[in-house]
Amino acid sequence: MRIVLYTLGGTIAMAGAGGRGVVARLGGAELTAAVPGLAEIGVQLAVQDTEPVPSADLTFRRIAELVAAADTAVREGAAGVVVTQGTDTLEETCYLADLLWDRDEPLVFTGAMRNPTLAGPDGPANLLAAVRVATSDAARGLGALAVLDDEIHAARFVRKAHATATGAFTSPDAGPIGHVIEGAVRVLTRPARLPALTVDPAGFDRARVGLYTATLDDDGGLLAGLADRYQGLVVAGYGVGHVPGALAPVLGTVARSIPVVLTSRTGGGSVLAHTYGAVGSEADLARRGLLNGGLLSPYRARVLLRTLLAAGADGAAIEAQLAARR
Ligand code: ASP
Repeated sequence: MRIVLYTLGGTIAMAGAGGRGVVARLGGAELTAAVPGLAEIGVQLAVQDTEPVPSADLTFRRIAELVAAADTAVREGAAGVVVTQGTDTLEETCYLADLLWDRDEPLVFTGAMRNPTLAGPDGPANLLAAVRVATSDAARGLGALAVLDDEIHAARFVRKAHATATGAFTSPDAGPIGHVIEGAVRVLTRPARLPALTVDPAGFDRARVGLYTATLDDDGGLLAGLADRYQGLVVAGYGVGHVPGALAPVLGTVARSIPVVLTSRTGGGSVLAHTYGAVGSEADLARRGLLNGGLLSPYRARVLLRTLLAAGADGAAIEAQLAARR
């Protein structure tokens, strides 16, 4: 069985840089050599190294191109795909890949919280678990997955919720959809899949989407002129989707020019639609033209909106896609 391994860098691939901290520079040969037991599981790993970078430097375009390459690899016979990268942006890249992945074969993202120079690096265990998931029949048809700490997370739920812990990845609204137990892949629940989106990677260059977090006593001064420079905006509001009253008309003006999606800054749960009525509440913002992001985290909503805009979706199509995916 053949699995393609794309290495993009990140902590899992980091090594010392002469006393100036670690930098991403290891490729697939070094990563796989560090994994006890990998050679014994009978998988042929086809390594595709790309320039190792911190995940802060990944782009929508690069991930879309990776998905296209992975699609070709699967068409040519690969049973699954593993991607190693930095964990910082993994929840966004994994969700973007999930939106674009039109195959049953697993597309598995993993990384590490402890770099290889530290005691107890988690990269080797995460890579082994990711390869096991990529080869598993049980993981087929689940889209893009994040596999870390022996947990399997669906792209639409996963988030990095801790800066340093090896158990940094959680799915606050749903929990992990499976586990790797004594090397066996156990999938416990199967979220429904939606049809993949089709985007020319160059389209992302024409679709800038900002993310604005509402904070205490916020008057929205930062938003002046935003609609001239951005094609979309995601607002991370308080709680169930609220902003200060003074900010509501500012957002309403922006929403008359570009799509604005309302999400919650809390890290779990959904924005509401019709419970509160004050100026700046979710219902008031809906009347001003903001679109309801539901359970989408601010980061995921931004990935979705930018992908839809890059695909050329109009207002009605954006509303329909949000309704289906939030
Ligand atoms: N800063 C690193 C990165 O995202 C962190 C990690 O890989 O865990 O590239």
